[in-house]
Amino acid sequence: MCSGCDTPTRLTVRQAATEERGTHREQREHVAALHALLVTNALVTWTAGNVSERVPGEDLFVIKGSGVEYDGMTWEGITVCDLDGKAVDGVRAPSSDTDAHAYVYRNMPEVNGQVHTHSTYAAAWAARAEPVPCVLTAMADEFGGPIPIGPFALIGDDSIGRGIVETLTGHRSPAVFMQNHGVFTIGKSAKAAVKAAVMAEDVARTVHVSRQLGEPVPIAQADIDALYERYQNVYGQK
Ligand SMILES: [Zn+2]
Repeated sequence: MCSGCDTPTRLTVRQAATEERGTHREQREHVAALHALLVTNALVTWTAGNVSERVPGEDLFVIKGSGVEYDGMTWEGITVCDLDGKAVDGVRAPSSDTDAHAYVYRNMPEVNGQVHTHSTYAAAWAARAEPVPCVLTAMADEFGGPIPIGPFALIGDDSIGRGIVETLTGHRSPAVFMQNHGVFTIGKSAKAAVKAAVMAEDVARTVHVSRQLGEPVPIAQADIDALYERYQNVYGQK
């Protein structure tokens, strides 16, 4: 089963590492705690969704264990994997989305964190395979343009990871809506990827609501560029 989707996968279930060695405990505690933000922001149902983060200086990342429930999640619900997606520490089999996360870490060295959810409005745009047009200044700030659609891909091999990398490489958006599936986000940290997932759902909802009463007005490309530049380089505490 896919812990992201709870749908059957083509390949066999991933194996846990054979024992818990307690490595990278601090980072696993941090990533376990970030999963609570998926719940408080209403991005996930049951055990669907996952957060991962690259281990600094090592060819490893930490990711939610398959089927681990959010309520009471501890560091032991987070598994350490190598960049091929093989569990190296932890008693939980890693998320079935591990192949996708691993592919992105291998191919996008600037990415240190990833999130995947089936949040409602993002998945609704994904179901129509329609990019969210950039019609809000908050979208220009965060995404620098539309939120793109990635290809339809089955879980169980590199297909989803390839679709994410192909869609987001050279794109300003840290979020992609994979067709018929849901949102995948990338960031300089797991927390940044969580923020992108929260913001993607927020703007997907607002643009959807706007559509109900008419056609949203586009923002001129020069204004999108100016907003993005200011927000990414000037706004906030650096
Ligand atoms: Zn999924």
